Order: sequence, then structure tokens, then C-alpha cells
Amino acid sequence: MGFSENCTMYKISNYNHFQAWQNGSLIAFNAKSGAVALMTRENFELYNNLALRMKSDDLNVLNDEEKTLLDQLKYGKFVIADDSDEIDGLEFVHNLHRYDQTSYGLTIAPTMNCNMGCEYCFEDNKKGKMSPEVIDAIVKAVDDRADSMKSLDVNWYGGEPLLALDTIEELTNRFREIADGKKFKYSASMISNGYLLTEKVAKKLRDLGIYLVQVTLDGPQRIHDRRRPLKNGKGSYGKILNNIKDASDYVGIGIRVNVDKDFTEDIIVEMLEELKAEGLREKVGVYFGQLEPASEICANIAENCYNANEFSQAEVKYYRLLLNHGFLVHKAPTPISVYCMAQSVGALLIDPDGDMYRCYNHAGNKEKSVGNITDEINYQHPIFRDFFRFDPFREESCRSCEVLPLCMGGCPARRVDRKLQGEELCDTWKHNLSSMLDIIAVARQQEKQKAAAAAKETK
Ligand code: SF4
Ligand code: SF4
Repeated sequence: MGFSENCTMYKISNYNHFQAWQNGSLIAFNAKSGAVALMTRENFELYNNLALRMKSDDLNVLNDEEKTLLDQLKYGKFVIADDSDEIDGLEFVHNLHRYDQTSYGLTIAPTMNCNMGCEYCFEDNKKGKMSPEVIDAIVKAVDDRADSMKSLDVNWYGGEPLLALDTIEELTNRFREIADGKKFKYSASMISNGYLLTEKVAKKLRDLGIYLVQVTLDGPQRIHDRRRPLKNGKGSYGKILNNIKDASDYVGIGIRVNVDKDFTEDIIVEMLEELKAEGLREKVGVYFGQLEPASEICANIAENCYNANEFSQAEVKYYRLLLNHGFLVHKAPTPISVYCMAQSVGALLIDPDGDMYRCYNHAGNKEKSVGNITDEINYQHPIFRDFFRFDPFREESCRSCEVLPLCMGGCPARRVDRKLQGEELCDTWKHNLSSMLDIIAVARQQEKQKAAAAAKETK
């Protein structure tokens, strides 16, 4: 919400969060703008004083110190125009993105085949690749929308997408041709198990505009090789780690570590030491994923899975370990407009048969398909409706939630497929914002110190 030149009527944002930090200072965070700042105790007292005066519309006379602070608070959206309605603004942007047809987000599985046999995999690994007819139908779907499109964002998924690199290459070339002609932005990323991600392949991915590859490592070698073996039972860790080393010179690599209750802090440390020994500490981002039973049907594995609150607390411990071992902490509380593809009409997952889905967990499960790419999208399909329907702005607990801009109601599959309730639906920020802000502030401080030391050395 903007301010008019002469506006002197302000109020405090509902999404401000302050917490004590080092030496009496505070971390100030606004969940709607994502602004994070360190604040002195004196400025915090000044802020409280200004907040009181705002209530009685008493900001006409300000000294220089107060003026400077007010400008900073306005810049970070900690202070907003008195006539603005934050929840209304959030709802508007949420709906804009829900119904936005100008940004197309496609998750494409060019094959459901996979070279690995992970113990928790829910996918049915069918052999075979996408047919030329399905490739043509996907290209047509993009072409049909191209006149009004501003961006196309593709995430290559599977199975293991690198088993169908030729399909990725063909689709990329055809997407880029349309994007160049119609002048919209094209970007791409990939989720891969990393086993085929050699240096040569990484160069090819870079040339195909893939800027980020997410690779899963499930702990140190002894655990990863048990949880994520190749189909022939052999371990995959050594090759994946070597590949990451070579590939990270060409594409960004994010390492996702899927965790459950077996992941003690010792295990995480063991993995970090292994990454460090391979020179990967400065080259990759590491983050943690919560292993969850994808539906009520596989609730039998739930026993070993963290629930939302447990995972959020464990995540804090894991990120603290990253920090203590000198790894970068990439996770940050970032405002979102929708939680995932399920809440947006312009996003779809497409499998090799052209069948479309609304959730990663549904990939390849034909019962969960909402139609085929060769047909018109049926927005009234029961699964489409069930996943799209939830609106956080109609739910009192979400409307009044202090982290609504970071969560937007959370994962629809938890509501629809798993029938979870209450805070089990909430994103991790609901459970661990303060602890994570603490870690993030220390991480940023360390980065600044490192940058300053490096600048000094080059002088
Ligand atoms: S519904 Fe949940 S599991 Fe499915 S894609 Fe969205 S966030 Fe992921
Ligand atoms: S699901 Fe939970 S954390 Fe997310 S907006 Fe609703 S109440 Fe807040």
C-alpha cells in the first residue's frame, strides 16, 4: 500500500514481529513484506512511542531521529497508511495469482521410469517415455496461451527426468522458440536423483536454461545408500556426490535431505562432514524436507514421520548445525501469494501420457488425474475443485494468523488427502519463526563478516 505525499496518518502493521537478539538489540521482521532488520533497543523504544502516538494521530511534529526511523519503518512496511487494509490487500494478490493465466507453471515428467528404488517412493515407476503426440499436445497448450503469456516456468520431474533428456531437449527448444516469438520469459528447474548428472549433462542443462537442480541426499553415505539404492541394490551416494561436485560449476544445486525421526543430530553432522570433505560446503544449498505419508492409504509409515510441529522443531536443530558447520542458510521467511500449484489455475503437473495432476504426490497415479493435456481443462473436476477450493481468507484461524503471508493456508494435500486438522496443516513458520529468525540473523551476520574480510584481503 502506497503513501500519499502528505499522509501523516499511519498505523502499525499486523505482521510485525520483534524478538530480542544480541547485546540488547532486536530482530524486526514483517511477514507481509519479508523485511528483516536489526533494531537497537533505543529505536525499539522510539518505535513503541511512535506506535502510541499513531493511535491518537499525533505525528505532526517529529524530530530528525523520529523522522528517520519512521521512514525506515515505512520502507519495510512495519508502518502502513492508516486507511490501508492488509488482509484485503493479501486476499487481492492471492486471488490475482489463483486466477492468473499469464504465468504458466508446468511440472513435466517426461518419464516415470527411475534408476533408483527408494524405500519410501510412492511412485509407480513405469518404463517408457513421452510420445511425440503428447509432446505436440503440450507444445500446443503453451502455444494456445502464448499471446497473453508473460512467463513460462517449467520444472522437470519424474521418475528420473534425466532418463529422458532427449524429450527435455525437444520440449525446451520448442518452448523457447514460442517464448522468443511471443516475447515472454522462459525459465526452468529440475528435480533429479543426481545419479546421471555428470559434468557433460550439467553443461547441457545449463544450455537448456535450467538454472537449478534439486538433488536428494538422504543423510551420510551409510544411510543414503540404504534408503536410496539403485534398482540393482547398489549404493548411489558416491556417484551422486561426485556428480554434484562437477555439476555445481554449471548449474545451481540444492540438496534436499528428507528426514524422519531416525535423523539424529549426529547423523546430520556426519553428512555435513562428508559434504565438507568433498569441498561442497560453499557450493551447494542444503535444506530439509519432511517425509510424510502421501495419503491415508500409506499411513503405516506415519509412525516414523515427524508431525508438523515435531518437524519444525527438528528443522531448527538441523539448521543450527548447518550454521555451526559453516554452511550457508538459504531458508528465509518469504511472503508467498499461493502455497503451491494446487491453488493456481495456471499450474499443472503433466505425466508422460499427458495426464494432468494438481499435486506432486499424485504424479502417475491415474485415479488422481484431472484430465489429459489433449483435452480442455475441466475446472469442475472433483479433484481440481477439492484441491483448489480451500481459501485461507474464508478460514478465521488463517485470517487472523500472524504468518498468513508466509503460509497462505498450507498444503492442500494435507487437508484433502490426509484429512489433517488444526496446526498440523500449518507451515513450519507457524511453529518455528522465532528460532529460525535467530539462526538467519546469525547467518547473515557471518556472511557480512566473511565478505568484509574478503574485501580487505583484495585491497
Ligand atoms: S498439495 Fe501439498 S504435496 Fe501437493 S504439490 Fe501442493 S504442497 Fe506439494
Ligand atoms: S494454515 Fe496455519 S500457519 Fe497457515 S495461514 Fe492457516 S493458521 Fe496460519
